[in-house]
Amino acid sequence: MKNTGFDIVVIGSGVIGHSIAYRLKQENPQLRVAILGDPVNSLQASRAAAGMLAPFCECQVADPFFEFCRESLDKYSLFLEKLTSVSQMPVYFSQAGSLMPSSSFSETWNERKEFFKAESIPHELWDEKKVREKAPHLSKNCGEVMWVGEGQVNNRQLHDSLMAASRKLGVQILEENVSGFVRENSKVCAAVTETREIEGDQFVLASGSWSGQLAKVLDVELPLKPIKGQMCRLKLEDHFLDYTIHGMMTYIAPWKEGNGFVVGSTMEDKGFDSSIDDKVIDNLIARATEILPALKNASLIESWTGLRPAAKDLMPVMGRSGRYSNLYYSSGHYRNGILQAPNQADYMVSVIMGNLENEIPEFSPSRYNL
Ligand SMILES: Cc1cc2nc3c(=O)[nH]c(=O)nc-3n(C[C@H](O)[C@H](O)[C@H](O)COP(=O)(O)OP(=O)(O)OC[C@H]3O[C@@H](n4cnc5c(N)ncnc54)[C@H](O)[C@@H]3O)c2cc1C
Repeated sequence: MKNTGFDIVVIGSGVIGHSIAYRLKQENPQLRVAILGDPVNSLQASRAAAGMLAPFCECQVADPFFEFCRESLDKYSLFLEKLTSVSQMPVYFSQAGSLMPSSSFSETWNERKEFFKAESIPHELWDEKKVREKAPHLSKNCGEVMWVGEGQVNNRQLHDSLMAASRKLGVQILEENVSGFVRENSKVCAAVTETREIEGDQFVLASGSWSGQLAKVLDVELPLKPIKGQMCRLKLEDHFLDYTIHGMMTYIAPWKEGNGFVVGSTMEDKGFDSSIDDKVIDNLIARATEILPALKNASLIESWTGLRPAAKDLMPVMGRSGRYSNLYYSSGHYRNGILQAPNQADYMVSVIMGNLENEIPEFSPSRYNL
């Protein structure tokens, strides 16, 4: 069975694929856009993430990646306003900021402070008195704390909202996995699923950790692998903490609205292993409890594993393929794909529409001869 008539076929049903599809339809409602993939894939990063919007706590050098993430944070509020007005599905979003306890950064604390100053990052240093005032439930052992002007979303609500908005704008959401492609010389003609061939004029590979496998099917070597993260969510009343906490190997993300606190996370190079180790989860909770002692008695709501798509140089892979005239990539968003979603969607729409003004060479697929 053949499915004809799509202008653009996006392969990957996570936050990255959906934000591209949604923005394409916003830009040009006439475009016929399809999106392929399993939106409830339990390992997909978009539903596994903590939803921290943290360019400042995450980055340590002011490189193009940092600038891109910073721009994306700036775009978030308006992006969500427009998105939720289309989807009519609210997304929890907080700009209360993040806290970095000095106790977690003993060796690099001064370096972090210098970086924040040098880059004019919105931040404040809180002494113990201020910490007690603003975040009274933090452990007294946290010491001096840095407040950082960052954000937090509930990424599952974001994904739901993006799917609803895509659908409302007329994106065809086809819940099928791609197993092959029909090609003609340097052109992709169709994506092949178990039941049919889906023809399109242009294709976007946005399949997160699975992008490397799909690239192989296209005879292209994309050096990208999954980095496993185990994580959990604990039940604790909202008022215990307003801020996202970044420890060194620990974070605590408030999802609010009675949804508890997400505690993360491991970084494991174990392929597509989906197992959850209770001991690992206990260890994550123990470390988080050192920062927010109230978590000690909080009940476990759920634990899970997700896969971060990591390219070899840990940079995103975004742009036009050099090998196929009608193929684009947006993958490798690694630890910060939720944060990057708005800027990434704008960037990719400009690439696909052919009006990108400033290509970011560090992100270009050409660095891997793709
Ligand atoms: C534990 C964890 C914590 C994280 N925390 C944060 C955070 O706090 N802040 C942040 O900004 N980022 C965070 N991230 C990173 C972020 O989640 C990812 O960078 C982002 O979600 C990647 O989105 P994606 O759409 O590219 O990939 P995914 O969400 O993995 O989606 C990939 C999609 O491709 C589909 N697919 C796979 N194979 C095929 C196929 N053969 N055919 C068609 N479709 C296919 C899948 O079904 C899925 O829908 C975290 C990630 C993890 C795992």
